[in-house]
Amino acid sequence: MTTVLVLGGTSEARACAAELASHGIDVVSSLAGRVSEPKLPEGRVRIGGFGGPDGLARWLTENGTHAVIDATHPFAERIGSSAAAATRTAEVPLLRLERPGWQQEPGERWHWVDSLEQAAAALPSLGEHAFITTGRQGLAAFTGLAGIRLLVRCVEHPDAELGPDAEVLLSRGPYTTESERALMAHKGIDVLVTKDSGGTMTRGKLVAARELGLDVVIVRRPARRAPETVHDPGAAVRWVLNQ
Ligand code: NAP
Repeated sequence: MTTVLVLGGTSEARACAAELASHGIDVVSSLAGRVSEPKLPEGRVRIGGFGGPDGLARWLTENGTHAVIDATHPFAERIGSSAAAATRTAEVPLLRLERPGWQQEPGERWHWVDSLEQAAAALPSLGEHAFITTGRQGLAAFTGLAGIRLLVRCVEHPDAELGPDAEVLLSRGPYTTESERALMAHKGIDVLVTKDSGGTMTRGKLVAARELGLDVVIVRRPARRAPETVHDPGAAVRWVLNQ
């Protein structure tokens, strides 16, 4: 039986695992373990880091893995490079499954930056009440910004101490354009901060920002030395079947 490791933590990874399982493939999904109650994919699941590239290479060999699909989030850089190194060592084929980035549409006021630190630096010239939707990691970049209030949305409470001018909203998407527009209007948000995560599940906030005439600070994806890349789970399954 073919065993495939799917490095996950994304909706594409869950869709891919379900489709692989429906073809009778032994799929093992791997999650980092950052979220206490993760949405679990079909098939087998393992949780927690591998201990770097060497640990992952060992895992691949010990578990008789035939192929790896790196379907992690576009901003999860370390596991991506770990997968590249480990699959070389273990001589296992690797495919990257990655949703495309967002495309700016007419009327959208996007300001591209390369990091959360640059996003924070851009805020004072754009607004006074920022909606931060970049996840719970790296939020320390937004502390200590004079004259800026923050509405920070994440799935679980951030580790960083955000100070008195920050309100934390714990919730998990997907969100609709209507609910995003209502939230931003109700809170008096005047600038949105997001990563270029791509996909449809969180695009609603960008449409809502356009409709409300808000500026958006958008963090570019880190460069990845990607192996062969596909953009939808069906293509990843066809790649496995052709191995
Ligand atoms: P990261 O910086 O690339 O990874 C840090 C370490 O966490 C890795 O070196 C690895 O530990 C472990 N790890 C990460 N993903 C793993 C996986 N799928 N299975 C097993 N171990 C994993 O990743 P991150 O940005 O912290 O993201 C962690 C997870 O959350 C990813 O799986 C990603 O798909 C998901 N996620 C991330 C974001 C984001 O914005 N970064 C958003 C949504 C979902 P070892 O070196 O010990 O193997």
